[in-house]
Amino acid sequence: MANKEFNPWAMAQSQLDQVAEIIDLDPGIHRVLRLPRRALTVSIPVKMDDGSVQVFEGYRVQHSQTRGPSKGGLRYHQDVTLDEVKALAMWMTWKCAVVGIPFGGGKGGIICNPKEMSEGEVERMTRRFTAEMIMIIGPEVDIPAPDVNTNPQVMAWIMDTYSMNRGYPVPGVVTGKPLDIGGSQGRNEATARGCLFSIQNAVKKKGMKLEGSTVVVQGYGNAGWIAARLLHECGATVLAVSDSRGGIYSKNGLDPVAVLEHKQKTKSVVGFPGTDAVTNEEILGIECDILVPAALENQLTEKTAPAVKAKIVAEAANGPTTPDADRILEEKGVLVIPDILANAGGVTVSYFEWVQSIQEYFWTREEVNVKLKSIMDKAFNEVYDTMESNKVSMRLASYIVAVNRVAEATTLRGIYP
Ligand code: NAD
Repeated sequence: MANKEFNPWAMAQSQLDQVAEIIDLDPGIHRVLRLPRRALTVSIPVKMDDGSVQVFEGYRVQHSQTRGPSKGGLRYHQDVTLDEVKALAMWMTWKCAVVGIPFGGGKGGIICNPKEMSEGEVERMTRRFTAEMIMIIGPEVDIPAPDVNTNPQVMAWIMDTYSMNRGYPVPGVVTGKPLDIGGSQGRNEATARGCLFSIQNAVKKKGMKLEGSTVVVQGYGNAGWIAARLLHECGATVLAVSDSRGGIYSKNGLDPVAVLEHKQKTKSVVGFPGTDAVTNEEILGIECDILVPAALENQLTEKTAPAVKAKIVAEAANGPTTPDADRILEEKGVLVIPDILANAGGVTVSYFEWVQSIQEYFWTREEVNVKLKSIMDKAFNEVYDTMESNKVSMRLASYIVAVNRVAEATTLRGIYP
C-alpha cells in the first residue's frame, strides 16, 4: 500500500517514461498514456450497525478505454489512496494489452477496514458505492472485479445494485461473480493458475524443473494460497508462506491445504504446527528457487531485495517490486516475471467470464483452463523474445509489448475530436 516514501503512481509513470524512451514513443501519445482518462472520487455514507453514520471515501479510475472497456479490481483497505488506484489502473491497461485481451485498465478502491466491519455494513457500503459509480460502470464501459478484501459476494452485490437500477439482470457489469449468477468456471483460481503457467515457462527457459524446486509465497489470500497449492500439486516444495500477521517456515515443506485450514480456523497461517516463525521481510530472503510475492505493493525494495536468493521471482501481486529493487535483482541475475504478465491470468479469465455473461453461454472448466494456458504461453513467449532481442529486463520487455499495442490503437483511433 502507499506510504510516505513510496508513491506507486510516480513509479507507474516513471516505468512508462522509461519505455517511451526505448520505443521512441510519440510525445503526444506519451502525454495521453501518462494520465488516466477519468478518475472519480465519491463519498459513501453508510448506516453502521450501531445506528451511527460513517462516510467512506471511494475511487474509480479509468486509465484507458482505447482497446475496449476498462477493466480492473476493486480494493477495500485502510491504506488505499487515489495515487495507488491510479497506478493500479495504469498497470491494468498494460496487463490487458500484454495478454492481448480487448480491454483498457481501470481500478477502484474504498478507504475502509472491512475486517472491522460487519457483513451488513460492507454490503451497504458496496451498494452505495455502486450507486455513486453507476454512470461510469457497465459491460460496455468499465467492469469491476475482486481485488484485496473483495470477493464474489461483493461482486454479486454490485451486479444486483446495478441490475435493480437498470430494471433487468446485467451479469456483464462485473466479473469474479459467484457461478450461480453468471460467474466463470476457473475464475477463482485463474490468477494463480496463470502465474503457474508463467512459472512453468520460466523454469523451462532457465533449464530448471518445477518438480523438486523450492518455493516461498508471501501473502496467503486468493492469489497466494492457490499459487502455493498449484505449485505443490506440480511437485514443488513450498518452504514458507505468510500473511499480514507473519510467516511460517518448514525445511521439509508445507501442505498448502492444511495451512489454509489452519488459517480459516485461526485467521492466520502463523502458529501452524511444526513450523518456525518468520517475518514478512525475512520470508523474502529465504533460500529457494522460486519466490512468489502475492500480498501487496512495495515488498521487494532497496532494503529487502539484496537478501533475495531465488532464481525466479513471479509477481502474483501488483507492484511488489520497486525500481531500485528491480535493478538489484537484475544485477543478481534473478528472472523477474513482472506482475502485468505473471498475474494476468485473473483478468484473462475475467475476459472469458465477460464474454460468457454477454453471450449467456457457459464453458467448462477444462475449456477455460486450456484457453487460459494458450493466452499465457503466447504472452510469455512474446515478452521473453522481446527481452532477448532488446537486451532488457522482462519487466521492460512486457512494457514494450504492451505500450506499443496501446500506442498503436491510440494512433489508429486518433485524438477525438
Ligand atoms: P487477498 O485479500 O485474497 O489476499 C491478500 C493476502 O495478503 C492476505 O493473506 C493478507 O493477509 C496478506 N497480506 C496483507 N498485507 C500483507 C503484508 N504486509 N505482508 C504479507 N502479507 C500480507 O488478495 P488477493 O486477491 O490474493 O490479492 C493479492 C495481490 O494479488 C494484490 O496485489 C492483488 O492486486 C493481486 N492480484 C489479485 C488478483 C485476483 O484475481 N485476486 C488478480 C491480479 C492481481
